[in-house]
Amino acid sequence: LITQQSQEEMLKVFQANKELKEAGKDSESKLIVISVAVQPVLSLAAHYQLEPQDAFSRLSGYFKSVGADLVLDMTLSEDLSLLECENEFIERFRSKCEGSKLHLPMFTSSCPGWVCYAEKTHGSFILPYISTTKSPQQIQGTLVKQFLSSIQGRHPGHIYHVSVEPCYDKKLEASRSDFYSQEEDAKDVDCVITSVELEQMFKSQGKHLSDFPAADIDFPWTEGLSCSEQIPYKGTLVGHRGTGSGGYADHVMASAAQELFEESGAELKFKVLRNPDMREAILEKGDKVVLRFAIANGFRNIQNLMQKLKRGKCAYDFVEIMACPSGCLNGGAQIRPEEGTQQKELTTTLAKLYNELPIHSPRSNPLVQEIYTKWLSGAGSDKSNAKLHTSYHAVEKMNTALNIKW
Ligand code: SF4
Repeated sequence: LITQQSQEEMLKVFQANKELKEAGKDSESKLIVISVAVQPVLSLAAHYQLEPQDAFSRLSGYFKSVGADLVLDMTLSEDLSLLECENEFIERFRSKCEGSKLHLPMFTSSCPGWVCYAEKTHGSFILPYISTTKSPQQIQGTLVKQFLSSIQGRHPGHIYHVSVEPCYDKKLEASRSDFYSQEEDAKDVDCVITSVELEQMFKSQGKHLSDFPAADIDFPWTEGLSCSEQIPYKGTLVGHRGTGSGGYADHVMASAAQELFEESGAELKFKVLRNPDMREAILEKGDKVVLRFAIANGFRNIQNLMQKLKRGKCAYDFVEIMACPSGCLNGGAQIRPEEGTQQKELTTTLAKLYNELPIHSPRSNPLVQEIYTKWLSGAGSDKSNAKLHTSYHAVEKMNTALNIKW
């Protein structure tokens, strides 16, 4: 039901906006902004047998043909999410060494499937362990509704923001009351559309993705900033080092090894434990393990981890947790495999496509530093924390907020 509603709602908004523009009532129309995560692009590319960059451009062409004003990648918000997660971990690790009660292990928070499960099943016990850093979807929401709106001279309520994602749980995340501003009567993300919903829409129209003309990926962020000519990835689909779910464990571990133990370029290989969805990497100094990181995908591994944590036997400092086995590339709303192809084969294809993308490092993005300096009053400032972090709620409070029956 939720999925049908969001598709219909999105198409209705597009149509209403078109009618307003045709009637010359531009000032009453909304700016329609589409933010596209990398995993759905790869899902569409594999399904329609297109190069990922071509699939992205044609997806942009589709959205523009139905009335979108801007189609954006999410590299900037992924970068901010990785850097904030890194800073948060380093702060927690240092505080713990100084005897404070900031909780370790720190668990990532970009997967709403995992966060909802944690809030529902483990309540207040688990919440202090979960990173407060917003997911890329919600950082993008903040950037679009607050930063972009100021560049464009628009009220946030006059922007309609659609996010293209690999799972239905992102719809739940977008609908959390934490991401709605009562003051401005605006949600950070108005509508979430998934890979499989796009495929169903194209199918119902008898269209192939390559039927849509390629269009540019927009890059509206640099207006008034000095870094506009130095953005190496502008308009290009890129990946981050590590897993196709965002690369949190790889990024945070490499940065923490450097920052906390002056180990630059340390060999940080995640080795498979009891199954391919449970991996671990350690950093040793002398004969001592100083950092222990893990990647846990799928509920079987998450449940084991929770049991260990409750028994005081979870030795990790940081865990990248994703609810779907194999992570976001295998998200529940990615396009299903063609007949005769196994899910596993498709996931391997998507991982290969992800690994072939140009690797992007958050630190090489000059825009990130300008956003911190000029909009967020510096990394770690109150403003930066307010815009890029969130909080969680034991299930009773969340049920009330979302009116969900578990
Ligand atoms: Fe969504 Fe699955 Fe990725 Fe979690 S792991 S964000 S549920 S696709």
